[in-house]
Amino acid sequence: MSKRLVILGGGESGTGAALLAKVKGFDVFVSDQGSIKEKYRDDLVRNKIEFEEQQHTEEKILNADLAIKSPGIPDKAEIVKKLKAKGVEIIDEIEFGFRYINGKVIAITGTNGKTTTTLLTYHLMKSAGFSVSLAGNVGESLARKVANGDADWYVLEISSFQLDGTKTFKPEIGLLMNITPDHLDRYEYQLQNYINSKFRLIQNMDSGSRFIYYSDDEIITRELASRSIPAAKIPVSLKSSHAPAFYDGSLMQFNLSEKFSIAQADTTLKGPHNLINTMAAVSAVHLAGAKLESIREGLKTFKNAPHRLEPVGTVNGVDFVNDSKATNVDSVVYALGSYNQPLVWIAGGIDKGNDYNLIKDQVKEKVKALICLGTDNKKLKDFFGGIIPVIRETQSVEELVQIALQEAQKGDVVLLSPACASFDLFKNYEDRGDQFRKAVAKLKLEHSI
Ligand code: ADP
Repeated sequence: MSKRLVILGGGESGTGAALLAKVKGFDVFVSDQGSIKEKYRDDLVRNKIEFEEQQHTEEKILNADLAIKSPGIPDKAEIVKKLKAKGVEIIDEIEFGFRYINGKVIAITGTNGKTTTTLLTYHLMKSAGFSVSLAGNVGESLARKVANGDADWYVLEISSFQLDGTKTFKPEIGLLMNITPDHLDRYEYQLQNYINSKFRLIQNMDSGSRFIYYSDDEIITRELASRSIPAAKIPVSLKSSHAPAFYDGSLMQFNLSEKFSIAQADTTLKGPHNLINTMAAVSAVHLAGAKLESIREGLKTFKNAPHRLEPVGTVNGVDFVNDSKATNVDSVVYALGSYNQPLVWIAGGIDKGNDYNLIKDQVKEKVKALICLGTDNKKLKDFFGGIIPVIRETQSVEELVQIALQEAQKGDVVLLSPACASFDLFKNYEDRGDQFRKAVAKLKLEHSI
């Protein structure tokens, strides 16, 4: 009799796992306590995979030989506790996919910068001519990719929740971008639990594996001091010239199997955070065997995911930039640090407890006008009132870009980097960024006539 595999959660990872399990001959059942999106339901129906929605039927779940839990479902969920009590092995879809691949893995985790670094690494691998597949938290799940055939390399973005469900997962090259307190509600409000989760990335890595990490990160360095790590360590730093990848104040310097340097101006990414992301990705791809020439070419042609310092158009010599993904002050620090030109800054939305002191000095130095884009802008106006000469306000994106153009001069940058969540006026940050991009395109058209 075939083994029974129960999958909790019918999203991208759950459906991907179901498809792979079907190919591998499991008796598969998918159970989702909420509703399953139409495209995933179609996948399941088309592949004759049994599933249920809006419920967890215990008789169909607790008889599992193996269970896969979607990363969004916490360990404290009743059904997970019951599976555990019955001694059923529970893993993540990443672990499941990994058990069936022959190719090697470059895995990227961290609190911030995962998507950018993952996409860049994938692009550089592809440009270098490798057979490579992109999966994990960005795009399609690993299991879905594996169900459709193997690749020589996999570039995977991995969250801490996914790492929690790994056992044998072993990247050839692991990247840890940074660790700052996040998602602590899932980690019993213990930072150490979250740190341990991130370090699961390297739990199976041996002396043949490489561990690339950002060594200016205090939490990472403190943790490294207390662990013995067999993998070859490749620190990336903005400060230390001893690191095999470091920034000397004007160039990114690499001391890997060869020495070389790269100027950020020869890449498509801006800002200090992207120096770190670029150095990490370049190191990974170089270690994987890519030629320097192809890396240089790839850096010139990379296009980042939208809403991250995304240039969306130039009108009358004013550059408009969409950084809608910046929903907290930390991200705005990087955004402001990415420009030397005078800025018209667009901020506002739902404040998640922002401390604007973090950006006060940079704002004073660079921002000539602030346009508040939220329903309640009191906090922004009160804080920046004496700091920014011009403060305006709107709830309409069309009006917003008009005001921005009025306030800007040729050579200035209009920067949507809101420091806030978007739910007061928009569906999500993508919707906010998409509306902004559209409004700029319309503005451009008006001014080109
Ligand atoms: P993630 O996938 O981890 O959320 P992204 O690449 O989507 O990361 O970037 C999200 C935001 O995090 C960016 O808009 C930027 O402000 C910030 N960021 C990007 N890279 C880094 C980094 N290396 N360190 C700190 N912050 C970063």
